[in-house]
Amino acid sequence: MDPTDNRNRLAKQDRGQRLIRQGRERFIQEMHQQLDEIETLIAEAATHEHLESSRTLFRKFHTMKGSAPVFGLMRIGQLAEELLLIWDWADCESADASSIPEAVARSLKPMERLTMEYDVCKKELELDYSGISKERPTMAGSRLLIIDDEDALRSYLYRRLELDDYKVMEAATVDEAKRLLHEHHFDLVILDLMMHPQSGYALFEFLKEDPTLKWLPLIVLSGRQDLEDKMQCLYLGADDYVTKPFQYEELAARIYSLLTRSKTYEQMAFRDPLTGVYNRRYLDHQIYSELQRIQRYPSPISVAFIDIDFFKRINDKHGHAAGDQVLQGLANLLNHHSRVTDLIARYGGEEFVILMPETTEVEAEQLVLKLRELVHRQPVAKVNQQSFQVTFSAGIVQWRDSMTAETWLQAADAAMYRAKNNGRDQVMIGTSVDEQANTSQTHQKTLLIADDDEILRKILVTNLSHLPVRILEASDGEQALHLLHHHIIDVCILDGVMPKIDGLTLLQRYKESADQRKGKTKVIMLSAKRKQDDVLKGLLLGADEYMAKPFSIVELEIRVKRMLQ
Ligand code: GH3
Ligand code: MG
Ligand code: MG
Repeated sequence: MDPTDNRNRLAKQDRGQRLIRQGRERFIQEMHQQLDEIETLIAEAATHEHLESSRTLFRKFHTMKGSAPVFGLMRIGQLAEELLLIWDWADCESADASSIPEAVARSLKPMERLTMEYDVCKKELELDYSGISKERPTMAGSRLLIIDDEDALRSYLYRRLELDDYKVMEAATVDEAKRLLHEHHFDLVILDLMMHPQSGYALFEFLKEDPTLKWLPLIVLSGRQDLEDKMQCLYLGADDYVTKPFQYEELAARIYSLLTRSKTYEQMAFRDPLTGVYNRRYLDHQIYSELQRIQRYPSPISVAFIDIDFFKRINDKHGHAAGDQVLQGLANLLNHHSRVTDLIARYGGEEFVILMPETTEVEAEQLVLKLRELVHRQPVAKVNQQSFQVTFSAGIVQWRDSMTAETWLQAADAAMYRAKNNGRDQVMIGTSVDEQANTSQTHQKTLLIADDDEILRKILVTNLSHLPVRILEASDGEQALHLLHHHIIDVCILDGVMPKIDGLTLLQRYKESADQRKGKTKVIMLSAKRKQDDVLKGLLLGADEYMAKPFSIVELEIRVKRMLQ
């Protein structure tokens, strides 16, 4: 079905429901006076044998019989019909006042019931539409799962929650619930404890064992007031407990409270405040649980490392605020054009990671190429009439058995760097070289050459390429530091004078960081300066060797070889 049609249909349904609610409210409000009038008319008819009063009674019951069911007040409609039959003789020309006493007598019981029914409806409406309920806040769009084997209650809750703009799914059994929990993402679960054939307790274990479902807010519904039950549920990890019969309003308030709280916590703990996508902490957590999941249910999973090209130029030229908007724009684009199951996270400054469960590297590449198409076609941000268009470089790696979460991401990062070195604005799939270099079983060493002099870098790469070593390059201090933090670098050739961060500052930052790799990295400082205190500073900061430019390539090679052993 066309989604617009569907939306229109839902909007119409919604309007219909609201009209019915309003009508019912007015009907009940007016019914009070109607009942008074009917009482008076019956009294008049009885004392004066008044035919006109009898006819008015007939008309009133007729109207009530017709209108009450329209607003869903079926029992009032039935009672009105019963009374109508008692008074219908009054409707003809030849009506005789002698029928009045019997009609009055027969009306007594149904009138009593009608008054009672009115009281009940009024009470229900008061509870339903009391002050707070009219302004009742909801977390519209949140996804809820109702698990209850009682059809009537479940569908009632379903309807009410949908009216409150929740996205609701329902399950009548534990198995069905498990299936839905695997296939969909929910924000909250409402679980009936007393179910057949399996009780709600069976679902507790299932939820609490799965790291991805463990934190899902859970409200338990139960027919039992039993203290033991309540306590057990709360100890098992339920967030709230509501006993049947319950007022919808109370449940709605509890749902709202839980959802807002968990949203706030999630925002604080797991979201990047600038872009709203997940942060690195959450990504780490999800990678961990995904890797656990595929140990149990093997399936492909891929990760993409995305880095904006020349992002610094935007900051430099248009200011940091414009840069921020570009980051937000790209994050939005990634969010809107990836699949629901993909997880978007901001990894660092202008780096994003997409975690793609159930996805091979080839499928992941298709998705990232689609994203690349999109940023080619449209600007990611508009600031003061100016449009900002960016490109990105991306590396993709499908998880393989020998990888840890860390080496997996490193491999994707390395692939991204190849995309950069290859001219940017492209997508690379991690090669087996990246993977081997990053798994602990292999012993290939990594050498980082950090120097802004491109010609010198080329010469070094050519001369050292015969060594059994993987060579990474950085053209400035920031890139070099990034690589040092993201890879296990065995030897680093570090130029003392570089753009962005000079060699000495870089060394200082690296040594002061909490990075556990720093102890393993041997550093050869290069410098054009022969200044004694620079040499000293470098050595004090932990450089292992110091070479002054111009130096002999042969000598450098000997030193690198020695350090690699
Ligand atoms: P490359 O193509 O090699 O990736 O070049 P680049 O300029 O994109 O990369 P580089 O790593 O040199 O620069 C990244 C810049 O991102 C540097 C830093 O100032 C900036 N940055 C990091 N975080 C933020 C942020 O939150 N907001 C803004 N506006 N800029 C940021
Ligand atoms: Mg960049
Ligand atoms: Mg970067």
